[in-house]
Amino acid sequence: MTIQGIVFDVDGTIVLEDKVLDGAPETLELLRSKGYKLVFCTQQNQYSERKLSERLAAVGLNVPPAEIVSAGTVSVNVIAERHPGSDVYVVGSDSLRNRMARRGLKVLQDRLGEQAEVVLVATDYEVNQTRLSAAAEAVRRGAVFYVTNLDRGEPMKDRIIPGPGSIALAVAYTARRRPIVLGKPSSTMVAAVQERLGLPASSLAVIGDQPAQDVRFGHALGAATVLLLSGVTSAEALKRVPASFMPDAVLSGISEVPGWLDQMNT
Ligand SMILES: [Mg+2]
Repeated sequence: MTIQGIVFDVDGTIVLEDKVLDGAPETLELLRSKGYKLVFCTQQNQYSERKLSERLAAVGLNVPPAEIVSAGTVSVNVIAERHPGSDVYVVGSDSLRNRMARRGLKVLQDRLGEQAEVVLVATDYEVNQTRLSAAAEAVRRGAVFYVTNLDRGEPMKDRIIPGPGSIALAVAYTARRRPIVLGKPSSTMVAAVQERLGLPASSLAVIGDQPAQDVRFGHALGAATVLLLSGVTSAEALKRVPASFMPDAVLSGISEVPGWLDQMNT
């Protein structure tokens, strides 16, 4: 079957550290003009789709909010639907807390966090012992334990800081409970992308820079998988990737995607 829909990762795929990657704007326009349906699936959880769209527009990328599926919004939706009106404790950003409150969830302050019925761990630049302790104690007492995504680190300008996966591990290890993952490569994210695109999995390609997130996500979706070397994975590091995370194709960057699609679709 020919490829009709493309699921792009964002960081390391179309942008890197708030800079647009070479050829990304032209490539996206070309793919749109050829009739491909695009979705941008990101582990981002600190911004709404509208805000993400504005941030991409600021660097010259035209990505409307309707084409974005983020781990943050998927997490808010899932928790609001599965646990309506419940007491929630969030180790994450104010944006995430506000979006949960707007969906009718009762977002607890740090000092009441241990009483939560649901705990969500996400990207948190201000995480501290108070927050980790509140989350771990709530989970130990039986709260449902979610994490937006299992990324180990968040790349900053000159270093990598602990990401949601590493923060969740501290809570999990303390409370002796594993979190339920809601972002890539979870079945929750698979369902969110399928719903957005409305195309059969065999007509989709997932394109991203992380084997453990993007390639695994593509496999879970049943899509073709492409790994780009423009982000966190080097050609050298790819040699050490387990066979089960290997993509169908490896390309240097997004500019090579149209050529790969032409090859696939002939
Ligand atoms: Mg990425």
